[in-house]
Amino acid sequence: MTEITCKLLVIGAGPGGYTCAIRAGQLGIDTIVVEAEKPGGTCLNVGCIPSKALIHAAGEYETIAAAAEGKSVPGISSAKPGLDFAKTIAWKDGIVRRLNGGVAGLLKKAGVRLIAGHARFRDGKSVEVKTPSGSQMIHAETVVIATGSEPIAIPTLPFGGRVISSTEALALTDIPNKLIVVGGGYIGLELGTAFAKMGAAVTVVEATSRILPQYDAGLSAPVRTRLSALGVNVLTGAKAKALVSDGTALAVETADGQQILDADKILVTVGRRPVTSGFGLETLDLDMNGPFVGIDDRCHTSMRGVFAIGDVTGEPMLAHRAMAQGEMVAEIVAGRHRAWDRVSIPAICFTDPEIVTVGLSPDEATGQGFDIKTDLFPFKANGRALTLEREDGFIRTVARADNHVLLGIQGVGAGIAELSAAFSLALEMGARLEDVAFTIHAHPTQSEAFHEAALMSLGHAIHI
Ligand SMILES: Cc1cc2nc3c(=O)[nH]c(=O)nc-3n(C[C@H](O)[C@H](O)[C@H](O)COP(=O)(O)OP(=O)(O)OC[C@H]3O[C@@H](n4cnc5c(N)ncnc54)[C@H](O)[C@@H]3O)c2cc1C
Repeated sequence: MTEITCKLLVIGAGPGGYTCAIRAGQLGIDTIVVEAEKPGGTCLNVGCIPSKALIHAAGEYETIAAAAEGKSVPGISSAKPGLDFAKTIAWKDGIVRRLNGGVAGLLKKAGVRLIAGHARFRDGKSVEVKTPSGSQMIHAETVVIATGSEPIAIPTLPFGGRVISSTEALALTDIPNKLIVVGGGYIGLELGTAFAKMGAAVTVVEATSRILPQYDAGLSAPVRTRLSALGVNVLTGAKAKALVSDGTALAVETADGQQILDADKILVTVGRRPVTSGFGLETLDLDMNGPFVGIDDRCHTSMRGVFAIGDVTGEPMLAHRAMAQGEMVAEIVAGRHRAWDRVSIPAICFTDPEIVTVGLSPDEATGQGFDIKTDLFPFKANGRALTLEREDGFIRTVARADNHVLLGIQGVGAGIAELSAAFSLALEMGARLEDVAFTIHAHPTQSEAFHEAALMSLGHAIHI
């Protein structure tokens, strides 16, 4: 076994781990990152990037299909589109490969050593890595655990055969005729919508009383309407039980009794759990926070010199949270004074329409004791939305009633993901309703709905 040393060892090269390693390298820290699979982690390989490629492809297909059915802008027609899904998946894989190479290149440029293999703790400062060329022992002054998360299975419906996770769904080479999505959260609905647009008959089985239960009802309603328009069958208050009929159908318990649904594929998206086992973490006996590794406001665990970042540390399990933590930890290791002081972590649901949330919802704000002003401006009164043929949705502001400081901004609308940057900036800058009202928002854009929502709370919206 070869033995090597470094100042900083990062376990896992997902968005959290690779960002931490790159920033550490930039700061001149001798850094090693160990990755068992491919650089980029869940997000780049089987999460954010491939899912958005598929969503984009599905949108393109649906646009042409709508034109072929005479449902496009008057005057535009088209022949029915063809779909060679294996080629679409190959295109998606090409994007992922390009980004894999990009991350590896960025690590190299920052002077970081990337070691391929599965790391296992020997003690709090040493890991053993099984690489294709033999075992290596790495000793480090500081260790960052960035091992991410993995899909949760339903015990009565284990993964295998027709039962797949998001990872397999992103690698299918045929569109399933009948697809059941178990779990109406953002991952299930993003993928379910994409497959519905590309011709699958999709049924969503959701245990709670409505889809996207983590968002308020006002935000999820336009998504529900659009799913119906796409022909998606949504069963709420419904529980997936087990495979029946030789594994070709799913038994689902609903308020009206048991239903047996035929399925070519059953995509289970009922959540993700942190990767905390299988690499000797338990031997460190760290303080845990439920199933997650417990951390303080510097991402420090209960063991000196051991940090943890990203999905392994808790909700929200989002790539940009992992990256922000990774960057912060690298700077702390370099001796800078940093602590987690972000006002908000934006969350985007890339459904159709998209949902963007930043900061507190009206219920969360009042629940925290704030007296609030909240208003929403509907896209049906926004000129740009009309030109895009997408009048569904709105933008909503939530501000303190006393001093008008914004506490939260939410929106639901076609293609509004990019507005998240403006929303986040407003919250981080401590903007008041007056700041948004005073800012000239370009016309015609969907962002004007943000301006108008703020004006509405100030009592003088113009376009409604
Ligand atoms: C379908 C899907 C869509 C998503 N879409 C979005 C989105 O649009 N936006 C968003 O912000 N988030 C999205 N996410 C979530 C996002 O992927 C995660 O929040 C993000 O990847 C977490 O980053 P991480 O660095 O904590 O962990 P991960 O990305 O999970 O990376 C952890 C890495 O550690 C490696 N590893 C684990 N154990 C070891 C070990 N012992 N030795 C060596 N290597 C190890 C793993 O192989 C993995 O590469 C999506 C997730 C899924 C599944």
